[in-house]
Amino acid sequence: TLRGSAELIEAEEATLAHNYHPLPVVVARAEGVWVEDVEGRRYLDMLAGYSALNFGHRHPVLIETAHRQLDRLTLTSRAFRNDRLAGFAEDLARLTGLEATLPMNTGAEAVESGIKLARKWAYDVKGVPRDQATIVVAADNFHGRTTTIVGFSSDPLAREGFGPFTPGFRVVPYNDLPALEAAVDETTAAVLIEPIQGEAGVIIPDDGYLTGVRDVTRRWGALFVADEIQSGLGRTGTTLAVEHESVRPDVVLLGKALGGGIVPVSAVLAGREVMNVLHPGEHGSTFGGNPLAAAVGSAVVGLLADGHYQRRAAELGEVLDAGLAALVGQGVLRYRCRGLWAGVDLDPALGTGREVSERLLGEGVLVKDTHGSTIRLAPPLTITREELEWALAALAKVIG
Ligand code: PLP
Repeated sequence: TLRGSAELIEAEEATLAHNYHPLPVVVARAEGVWVEDVEGRRYLDMLAGYSALNFGHRHPVLIETAHRQLDRLTLTSRAFRNDRLAGFAEDLARLTGLEATLPMNTGAEAVESGIKLARKWAYDVKGVPRDQATIVVAADNFHGRTTTIVGFSSDPLAREGFGPFTPGFRVVPYNDLPALEAAVDETTAAVLIEPIQGEAGVIIPDDGYLTGVRDVTRRWGALFVADEIQSGLGRTGTTLAVEHESVRPDVVLLGKALGGGIVPVSAVLAGREVMNVLHPGEHGSTFGGNPLAAAVGSAVVGLLADGHYQRRAAELGEVLDAGLAALVGQGVLRYRCRGLWAGVDLDPALGTGREVSERLLGEGVLVKDTHGSTIRLAPPLTITREELEWALAALAKVIG
C-alpha cells in the first residue's frame, strides 16, 4: 500500500526525532538536477544536499561505479586491507597536493579527526605541554554536530543544553586578522576555519584573509586546517576554495560531495610528517575507508580531474551572480556569490527565509533558508544555464 506525501509526513512526525523541520516535500526519485515527489511533481534541486550532490543525483559514472563495487566487495573494516583504498588515497593526494589520507565517513568525523590530529601534532612535534594545546576557530562557524564541535559554535541553538563542552578552543571573529593574530600563541595547535562560511550564509572573507591566516599560522608554527567540506570539490569554481588565494593549508577536510551523494565519505588530508603522529590504535572508524566508499570517492576525484565541473561552476556562477545582482532592491537586500554558491539576504518584509523557501517549493524549486531571511543557492554543478535562469525567474516571481 503506497502512502501519499501527507501520510508520510505525518508518519515521520510520529516516529522520528524532531531535530529537523523539513520543507513539506517527500522525494521519491531523482535524476540529475531534478527530483520527483511521491505524487510525481517535479522540482529543480537548488540545494543539492548541502553540496553533497555537486554532480547531481545519480550521476551515471558514480552509480555505475557503486553498482560494480556492490557486486564485488563492500566492507572489510580496517582490520584487513582492501584493494580500493590505496587508489583512493593516491587520487586524493593528486587532487589536493597533500600526500596522506585519514579516511572517515561524515563531515563532523573529519573535523573531529582533524582536531585530534592537530592536538597530537602539537604535543609530539611542536612541543606544547600536555593538555595545553589550543585551537583557534571563527565565530559563526559550522563544523558539525558532535559535543566537541558544538562546544565552539557561536549559535545558541546548537549549544544550549548540550554542555559541558571540550576545553581548548578560542573563538575569534571571522575575516579579522588582527583578532586572529591576538588569539594565536605558542600553545596554538591549529587554526580551523571554513575558507567560505557556508551555514553562516555563504560568507566570503576579504581577499588576503586566507593568505593572512597562512602567514600567522606559519609564523607561530601552528597548523592551518581548512574545512572544505562544503566549499570544496568544485563548488566555488576551483577544486578547493583556498585556491582563490593560492593558499596551501597544512590540513584539508573533505566530505559531502566526496561520497557522490551515494555514501557518506569524508577524509582528513595532511602531509606525511603531520599524519605520522597517528599510530596503530590511536584513532579509527569501522566504516572509514571501506571499499564502496573508496570506489565512489575515487570516481568523484575522477570527475574533477579535467576541470570540467570547476569551469562550469565558475562560468554558471557568473550567470547566478548577474541574476542576483538584478534582484538587489527588488526583494534582495544583498547577496554573496562565488561559483555556483550564493547566500541571499532577502528583505525581511517579504517573510522569513523559510516562507520564501515554501513559496519557491510551490514554483517547483527546492531551496533552504540558512537562518533568518537568508537563503542559500547551491545547485548541482551539472545544472544548465536555462535551468539556472528558470530558477532565478522563480525567485524573482516569489519575491516580486
Ligand atoms: N563542516 C562544514 C563546513 C559543513 O558545512 C558541514 C555540514 O554542513 C560539516 C562540517 C558537517 O558535516 P556532516 O553533516 O557530514 O557531519
